Amino acid sequence: MSYYYILFDADGTLFDFDNAEMYALSDLLAKYGVEITEERHALYREINRAKWRGFEAGEITREQLQSSRFRELFGSLGRPDVDAETANAEYLDLLADGSHLTDGALEVCRSLYGRCELAIVTNGIARSQIRRVGKSEIRKYISKVFVSEEIGFSKPNPLYFEYVLGKMQITDKPSVLVVGDSLGADILGGAKSGLDTCWFNPRGVANDTGAVPTYEIRSLRELTDIVI
Ligand SMILES: [Mg+2]
Repeated sequence: MSYYYILFDADGTLFDFDNAEMYALSDLLAKYGVEITEERHALYREINRAKWRGFEAGEITREQLQSSRFRELFGSLGRPDVDAETANAEYLDLLADGSHLTDGALEVCRSLYGRCELAIVTNGIARSQIRRVGKSEIRKYISKVFVSEEIGFSKPNPLYFEYVLGKMQITDKPSVLVVGDSLGADILGGAKSGLDTCWFNPRGVANDTGAVPTYEIRSLRELTDIVI
């Protein structure tokens, strides 16, 4: 297929979120005199994942997600005295400083740039996402960054993609490919909006959802064969 517009998810797709998160969390805990361990990192990830699921299901707001994850984490670590909102703001700053790219991301952006228009579509938090893209090497290849917080809708809501298509003045839906690691947000959202999708599945996990991607890839490098 010939695609002209490539809409990339950020976390877990272009950016190696696991790596960035690990560094940010480690620095945050150190600030409060708590040492990072594998177990503590896993605990945070578990709490954070549950909060994001709640947010994507519309059960909690973004603000509730952000502060409650640290309230729970520090509570579990015996530090209920830590102000969760302050900790969250500090964490976002630390996260924004980490612009670790996924393997192949820079290469693929460089190779597609010129024949495609590349944009970022993310459910992340505006403050960290915009700063992170700005600091990364892929910045020069990305024409626009759409952060759900600024739009008022999140993936997989079709209104989110409708907004993006409108802003990019795209009328030809078959020329768009949505690339992301989340079946629930990227693949379902793209499909609901009538767009082709590419599921970035580096660990080869099973698809146990009803979302059906147009393509599935293990490495971002495979994109250059899909986008001709
Ligand atoms: Mg993602």
